[in-house]
Amino acid sequence: MAERPDSNFLRAIIDRDLAAGTYASRTDPQGERLPAVITRFPPEPNGYPHIGHAKSIWVNFGLAQRYGGRCHLRFDDTNPVKEDREYVDAIIDAVRWLGFSWESPTRDGATRAYLYYASDYFDRIYAFAEALIECRAAYVDSQSAEQIAATRGSFLEAGIASPYRDRTSEENLALFRAMRAGKYCDGEHVLRARIDMGAPNMVLRDPVLYRIRHAWHYRTGDAWCIYPMYDFAHCISDAIESITHSVATLEFENSRPLYDWILGRLRDTGALRDPLPHQYEFARLNLTHTITSKRKLLQLVTEKRVDGWDDPRMPTIAGIRRRGYTPESVLLFCERIGVAKTDGWIDMSVLEGAVRDDLDGRADRASAVLDPLRLILDNYPEGHGETCTAPRHPKHPERGVRVFSLSRELWIEREDFTDDPPKGYFRLFPGNKVRLRHGYVIECTGAEKDASGNVIAVHANYLPDTKSGTPGADSIKARGSIHWVSVPHAFMGEVRLYDRLFIESNPAAGEQGMMVALNPGSKRVITACLEAGLREAAPEERFQFERHGYFVADRFDSSPGKPVFNRIVELRTGRTAGPSV
Ligand code: ATP
Ligand code: MG
Repeated sequence: MAERPDSNFLRAIIDRDLAAGTYASRTDPQGERLPAVITRFPPEPNGYPHIGHAKSIWVNFGLAQRYGGRCHLRFDDTNPVKEDREYVDAIIDAVRWLGFSWESPTRDGATRAYLYYASDYFDRIYAFAEALIECRAAYVDSQSAEQIAATRGSFLEAGIASPYRDRTSEENLALFRAMRAGKYCDGEHVLRARIDMGAPNMVLRDPVLYRIRHAWHYRTGDAWCIYPMYDFAHCISDAIESITHSVATLEFENSRPLYDWILGRLRDTGALRDPLPHQYEFARLNLTHTITSKRKLLQLVTEKRVDGWDDPRMPTIAGIRRRGYTPESVLLFCERIGVAKTDGWIDMSVLEGAVRDDLDGRADRASAVLDPLRLILDNYPEGHGETCTAPRHPKHPERGVRVFSLSRELWIEREDFTDDPPKGYFRLFPGNKVRLRHGYVIECTGAEKDASGNVIAVHANYLPDTKSGTPGADSIKARGSIHWVSVPHAFMGEVRLYDRLFIESNPAAGEQGMMVALNPGSKRVITACLEAGLREAAPEERFQFERHGYFVADRFDSSPGKPVFNRIVELRTGRTAGPSV
């Protein structure tokens, strides 16, 4: 069960360290006192950040904020093949959009940006590797990748030591320097930690620390042809930055002994000093009806199953933003699910509920007819028009009113009329009275049909003394109330009706892969009849279209006077999609 963030286990650990003074009296090389809590968010820039990363951002930046510490944004960019500047920019945008900052004031009142790249540490990481070689804690192995894998052993059997394991430090140093100097091809040698080939934890069976990779790096270019492995670079980067609490997800639990081993050995050599950073793990976020794997999200993009990384159906932060979610709603979601120590699934409805709850108080109301049917008020004078008013927000009268026009012909929702009303249907049918929201009570007189029997227009008479907001307007009661938009005044605008991207709750679970689990109805583009005032909507302005849901003017596709709307979420989750996990 998720714990409340105000009592989560990470806070308990930090409280314990604060009480013990574990990180209390550290200073940086300039002699400035370091905070007792320094966390970091360490993405690999190999894809756009997603909702799972939002949770990690919230945890790391949130903890630092709560304890008056600081959180570093660090790109763990040690794999040249998959990394790109575009992803760095997307991650920076995402952290900013969520309202967090990697900047902190310094003692002299200036502001310092704690924005780092592991690739900036390549020289130092290399020096640390030499330090390990010198104390015989690392060696150059000249076996092939296949041989190394084959001699790792198994859960039941110890691994087999490499014939190169006992090379002298001098020999290892010479080889490692030659690796760096580009004397060898990819795969000819690797640098391995010299730990224990019989360790029950496979991670400790002489893991690879450096590999040769003649590849261009998006930041260091051709400067390097050897690159540190993630496990080696990550803990060293934490130590270089004086991180106190290195918060990772549960899949890193097995690697924690390696994290401690590397830093412990470097401390023994005098390269690092106590107190060292410590790693703690919490549960990854798994969200139903979507995917939180960058590799799979990339596949959706490259196979054009979605319209790019920021498609409003994508669980990327760029997609969620474009869909119309507010940063506050994403943070509210993180708070509601809390921090757990065991993996589990969170239902998509929790995220949808968070944005509804956030937008209910913030979004102005508007009328929009999405599936239009013409309504003719036969007793309303032709060519005549009048204005109606409605509060922008029913609970916030201080926001004022919206003004829109009523005329003889109105658009109403097709489903708000039937000539064969089922029991309990209170909307329009011949002989019934309903209220036009913010307008008059009308009485339905009949409908016109085409040759195939489809209703093409509805007829009604309005009751003149019943206009909303006038004295005695309620003298005639109507049980139903429907929304409408005046035909000559309507703004005919593009609306994209988005729905969940996947039908299945766990799209990756099926044998046929995630593509068969895609929801074919996840995007429907319509031209809707919108209240005229919506023409002025600014990009990223959000509304509740009454009786439908929340919508946002798309931040990229809207132009002045011509916004395009995305459906963020329906007022209630109408549909069910697949069994729950
Ligand atoms: P992916 O598996 O999608 O490639 P990753 O874990 O490799 O994700 P990183 O860029 O390394 O992606 O992630 C940066 C940070 O975000 C890490 O600390 C990672 O643990 C955390 N993180 C990634 N996915 C999730 C998730 N679903 N829930 C919580 N935290 C996550
Ligand atoms: Mg990772």
